[in-house]
Amino acid sequence: MAALANPMSTLTAASRVAIIGAGLSGLACAHRLAQHGVHVQLFDKARGPGGRMSSKQRPSATLDLGAQAFTARDTRFIRKVAEWQDAGCVAKWPVHSYQASASGWQTHHDGQVRYCGVPRMSAITRHLADSLSAFPDASLTLETPIASFEETGLGWQLMDAHGLQHGPFDHVVISAPPPQAKALLADWEPVLAAACEAQPQRGCWAAWAIFESALPPLPNVDDAWQSLHAQHPALRLVSRNHTKPGREAQPESLSLLAQLDWSDAHIEEAPDTAAQQLLDAFTALLPSHTELPALLELGAHRWRYAQPASAGSQSFLYSERGLSLCGDSFRGSRIEDAWLSGDELAEALLGRSV
Ligand SMILES: Cc1cc2nc3c(=O)[nH]c(=O)nc-3n(C[C@H](O)[C@H](O)[C@H](O)COP(=O)(O)OP(=O)(O)OC[C@H]3O[C@@H](n4cnc5c(N)ncnc54)[C@H](O)[C@@H]3O)c2cc1C
Repeated sequence: MAALANPMSTLTAASRVAIIGAGLSGLACAHRLAQHGVHVQLFDKARGPGGRMSSKQRPSATLDLGAQAFTARDTRFIRKVAEWQDAGCVAKWPVHSYQASASGWQTHHDGQVRYCGVPRMSAITRHLADSLSAFPDASLTLETPIASFEETGLGWQLMDAHGLQHGPFDHVVISAPPPQAKALLADWEPVLAAACEAQPQRGCWAAWAIFESALPPLPNVDDAWQSLHAQHPALRLVSRNHTKPGREAQPESLSLLAQLDWSDAHIEEAPDTAAQQLLDAFTALLPSHTELPALLELGAHRWRYAQPASAGSQSFLYSERGLSLCGDSFRGSRIEDAWLSGDELAEALLGRSV
């Protein structure tokens, strides 16, 4: 059976669909299907929806650990972002960006408008998850890692890691990153599993640092700087979480994202060591003798599957057996790609032209 970019048989309002993964692509797919009356049950292994748009809540601060900001280029996604702005869960950020290398700091302008979630990146996926409750035939089940599924005479039956069964379903959408999707598919759809194999993922360390007081002023840098594109072997991006809309009351709190090459080389590092090395990299980009305020907290999160090594050329993949794949990797590596992939898969499953 070949993997298809477009389904030949389509879902109806009576169809029952399971979606594994409540990141942005899975939620986008669920929304579109639910709008057309399809019975949709979403599963995620995490405590909340969001996936790589998740945020970490600490007693003193909320930190985005995956995506920090995003762009919108496709008109469909531009319209969606405007809806999210109206709903109050998205705002423009950052507007004061810098770039830094060993030779100093300069303002950073690339002409792109960027957005973030308000009051945290995961507010967007939380908003989508909450609004699913408006559809009587849609539901989200959290803390439920799907361990396997099997085809029965009645349809697809899902087994979770706690030993519970879910189903039957007419169709299963997998929106987990390709290596995780491949593990689920291997026994049932080798062609889709091979398509996952062809999308290797790169890891990324994301550290956070919360300080007792504000960073000191830097010469020739606006005190209100919000993000820093770092030219450093270890460090790629620094975000000041407390400059993001809705978080003004929290203390100085940085997200420090590592370079992908550095992350590959240090992927098995202990989190504390990775965090310290990323903070040291940031310090190396500050003018000499700059003293950082006292740290309240320093930590790091390892994303084993942060982004595809190279983007795929199809938005989603489908097999006539009633299995399909969506997620950012199949069309790109960004939030916009994730939303478009999930939305386009749903449109195709409904038999609407994409
Ligand atoms: C460090 C970092 C920085 C980034 N920076 C940017 C940026 O600047 N701009 C930008 O546009 N994008 C950025 N991205 C990419 C962006 O976050 C992703 O494109 C987007 O969030 C992917 O959404 P998704 O739904 O495809 O996948 P995910 O968000 O990965 O969702 C998949 C979901 O599947 C769940 N899951 C997996 N396996 C199972 C299972 N067996 N059972 C149940 N649930 C399961 C996971 O828990 C997860 O919630 C960044 C990502 C990272 C990690």
